[in-house]
Amino acid sequence: MADHTGYIPPYCRQVMAVLDGAGYESYVVGGAVRDIVMGKVPSDYDITTSSTPEETAAALEGAGIRYAPTGLKHGTVMAIIGDDTVEITTFRVDGEYSDMRRPDSVTFTRSIEDDVARRDFTMNAMYLGRDGQIIDRTGGMSDIRSRVIRAVGDPSKRFNEDALRIMRGLRFAAQTGFSIEESTLEAMKAHAHLLTRISGERIAVELNLLVTARYASQVIRNSVPILSVVIPELALCEGFDQRTVFHDKDVLEHILAVLDNIPCGSGGRDIDLALAALFHDIAKPECFYVGSDGRGHMKGHPGRSAVVADRVLRGLRYPNSLREEVVKLVRYHDYFIPAERYSVHRYMSNCGPDFVRRILILQDADIKAHSSHPSRRRGRLEGIGRIAAELTEEGAAFSTCELDISGKDLISMGMSGGPGLKVMLERLFDLYLKGEVANDHEALCALAASLISS
Ligand code: ATP
Ligand code: MG
Repeated sequence: MADHTGYIPPYCRQVMAVLDGAGYESYVVGGAVRDIVMGKVPSDYDITTSSTPEETAAALEGAGIRYAPTGLKHGTVMAIIGDDTVEITTFRVDGEYSDMRRPDSVTFTRSIEDDVARRDFTMNAMYLGRDGQIIDRTGGMSDIRSRVIRAVGDPSKRFNEDALRIMRGLRFAAQTGFSIEESTLEAMKAHAHLLTRISGERIAVELNLLVTARYASQVIRNSVPILSVVIPELALCEGFDQRTVFHDKDVLEHILAVLDNIPCGSGGRDIDLALAALFHDIAKPECFYVGSDGRGHMKGHPGRSAVVADRVLRGLRYPNSLREEVVKLVRYHDYFIPAERYSVHRYMSNCGPDFVRRILILQDADIKAHSSHPSRRRGRLEGIGRIAAELTEEGAAFSTCELDISGKDLISMGMSGGPGLKVMLERLFDLYLKGEVANDHEALCALAASLISS
């Protein structure tokens, strides 16, 4: 058997040695073991043990290790070693899930088998001991080798207990590119309606991980009946023929192509852009009509799609700032400003440089997903991008606050306070945007003085 001792960080090994010394079993478990088996470096480590939380605390205390009783009710104690922390959770059996959120009760157990049975997927149900050996009772290793995601136990029962596992399964598929085992996928579909009973916040966490993951598009393509419980409009997009020369794909396939075109680094995609890609054309089916030219038209679809994005993201309790940015990207995804300095500078000042940087990526991804890439639009996009980069590099000002003149300066020149100051600063800013004055204290003061006296 392979020895994985070297994969356990020293602070985890220290905790495990303490528990071992006190006569308990302990293992690294869950995502960390999955990552190690897959050859990835885990982002965090969880330890599970046969000791009760009180026993864990006593053992840590005896060894002089600091700890915090973070989730005693659920059996979790957090050990603190230098700058590192690790959660230590007692083996447990989950009780009923009457509210579909968390078990009504958890029962601590000394048996690892019981703890295995409560885990969601076989790849998350492996236990790595201090001896470097992996305990794998559900075939997690072989499923990883075959690139399969499989529920632990009876999938129907498991998704019925906690429907969030459906979203977790989809997101693991999107992160790994693994396929979902047939009876697991069937059970996901059969129980998808239960997602309506899961809190928006919990769904949002998984949806974010899904859309930003490398294999998001293939997972979305294969799970429309599930995801449309969360985003009903998605179902209408599947197979929807746009009947226009600009598109050779149905609406869903176009959306997925745009999502694929959003850059995906090792840390995944930008969340704002991934969500904007997902929603950008989602209301096309409801805006569709055939014109007298016999072609399909979808006038007003950016605005309608923005409304859908807003409704869905509100329902999932997204933070306002993220929701607003996504909605704005969706609303303006078909809006192209002229590729000249004043317009670009004005656009960056009105919407913020980050928004402009993002919408250019979204528009580029969108254009590339059309049947033919209209070169006029691409050329313009490149021009805007070039000017935006120049302005950023030059350290251009994007708001009145960044001008090298303040309200205080204006008052010292004889202006009285109040709204007049803001108007004057905006006037100066506009002249700066037009290139009539540099962002230079002396020049701005001279200009302000002449405007005040005129
Ligand atoms: P990540 O790498 O994203 O943290 P993870 O698998 O570690 O993935 P966590 O939410 O940190 O996910 O959960 C740790 C472990 O707890 C999982 O690997 C799994 O064994 C178990 N688990 C978490 N959520 C559930 C759930 N809803 N149902 C059953 N088991 C779960
Ligand atoms: Mg984890």
